[in-house]
Amino acid sequence: MSHHIAVGALLVECNHFGGIPTDLDSFHRTQFLQGDDLLALDEGTLGGYFEVLCDSKEEFSIIPTLAATACPGGLVTDEAYAQIKSTLLSELESARDNQQLDGVLLALHGSAAAESHSDLEGDLLAAVRNLVGPSVPIVATLDLHAHITQQMIDHSDVLIAWETYPHRDARETGVRGAKAMADILTGKLKPTMAMGIAPVLVGAILGATDGDGPFARTMKLAKEIESSDEVYSTSAFLVHPYLDAPEMGGGGLVITHDNQNLANQLAQEIAEFYWEQRFALEPELYEIDEAIELGLAHAGTVVLVETADCCGGGAAGDSVQVLPALLALGPAVSSVIPVVDQLAASACHAAGIGATLDLQLGHRHDPKWGKPLAVEATVVNLTDGRFIYQGGIWDGCEGNMGPAAVVKVAGVFICLASFPTYEWCGEQYSALGIDVTQMKFIVAKNPMNYRMAFEHCSENFMVLDTSGPTPATCRHLPYKQKVRPAFPWDPELENPIRLLQ
Ligand SMILES: [Zn+2]
Repeated sequence: MSHHIAVGALLVECNHFGGIPTDLDSFHRTQFLQGDDLLALDEGTLGGYFEVLCDSKEEFSIIPTLAATACPGGLVTDEAYAQIKSTLLSELESARDNQQLDGVLLALHGSAAAESHSDLEGDLLAAVRNLVGPSVPIVATLDLHAHITQQMIDHSDVLIAWETYPHRDARETGVRGAKAMADILTGKLKPTMAMGIAPVLVGAILGATDGDGPFARTMKLAKEIESSDEVYSTSAFLVHPYLDAPEMGGGGLVITHDNQNLANQLAQEIAEFYWEQRFALEPELYEIDEAIELGLAHAGTVVLVETADCCGGGAAGDSVQVLPALLALGPAVSSVIPVVDQLAASACHAAGIGATLDLQLGHRHDPKWGKPLAVEATVVNLTDGRFIYQGGIWDGCEGNMGPAAVVKVAGVFICLASFPTYEWCGEQYSALGIDVTQMKFIVAKNPMNYRMAFEHCSENFMVLDTSGPTPATCRHLPYKQKVRPAFPWDPELENPIRLLQ
């Protein structure tokens, strides 16, 4: 008997504190596919789904619904969410009405939020459950930066997250998710699921799964637990802390074979271990001037990590907080900084290469974090802003900064993009013709991937204590929801772990 499985994706990470609203254009710029167009995807999470469903000895027929992916940003607009949700639901509804719906397999992020739904994935899974009923299994794959909510647990059968950060295993996670669906439908798995949440809100600087850092140790424990016969799957989470939602935290999610008590106990164990790592997850930070002074005293290239303005965490990428200190070094010290500024990029395209023009730079897309800086700049390069990702979740896919420009002011090369893009391995600088090896200071606006991008030319990385919607520490973020008690504000708590089941 053939099993009919509906497949879809809604992948975006959102930020409650800033960034540019994620509208339908944001999805169309990255990925917005419907129906049979999905079936052409052979990479990423959906590629992993199709690999399993097409190659299995069991007969599966795929019902492609919708795949909507956007660069991380501000909240998904209600209009965009309504359209994506209704498209997905109407595809599911017609499959259900044709009695051709045996399972729903969704690639989600887990930290998306719409203007009117701070738990977007919980809302979506609830709507899907409501439509398909209790007996059709729902399996969702997630980013390990997901914010797991009771609603997500209530309305899914299996949740499985990526295991790597930097993220390299979207496809492998797709394989795991589709296998879970196949195992449920063929009677090999009766999943029981629990999530242990430790109230730890930290940036991702020390959240690598490579090496032996605090989150790598947590992931290692989760994977050791997964190797037991009684356990089907485990996931470890370091929650994206730039949502403003109640009861956030990281920890462990465990799926057992029909044994809720064991799932609870093991999820608690991972979350307790993660709680013990909390102090090791807060990075050492530098003020801008301090970092530049130390950097000048150091031979070689220095990377200034301005994670507070990380497009990959939903920020607009338009901060110029570091720029005055770089300009003050004069023309003899070369440095490079990325700034998203559509107006400035457009003015450069109008002026042409070689032109000198007065620009007001930065803080225009998300003006809460600073004021534009007036500069007299010379245009040294212009491009259409397109580039190809070399690795990671978007390996081989095109990134699109929109019309882009490089301007030079004193010794600083300022890379202007029209739209924010996720940073993987320095592709944006390369596409704009920047030779980072010639720079004294490189500004990197991400909390993790800067190492991959620049370790070939620098061994000196300093994380800056700047303000923005994706800061290195969450201490000063203006949360309005009930996020406390939580680390770092409440470092000692009795019974900190909360169990969702
Ligand atoms: Zn992530």
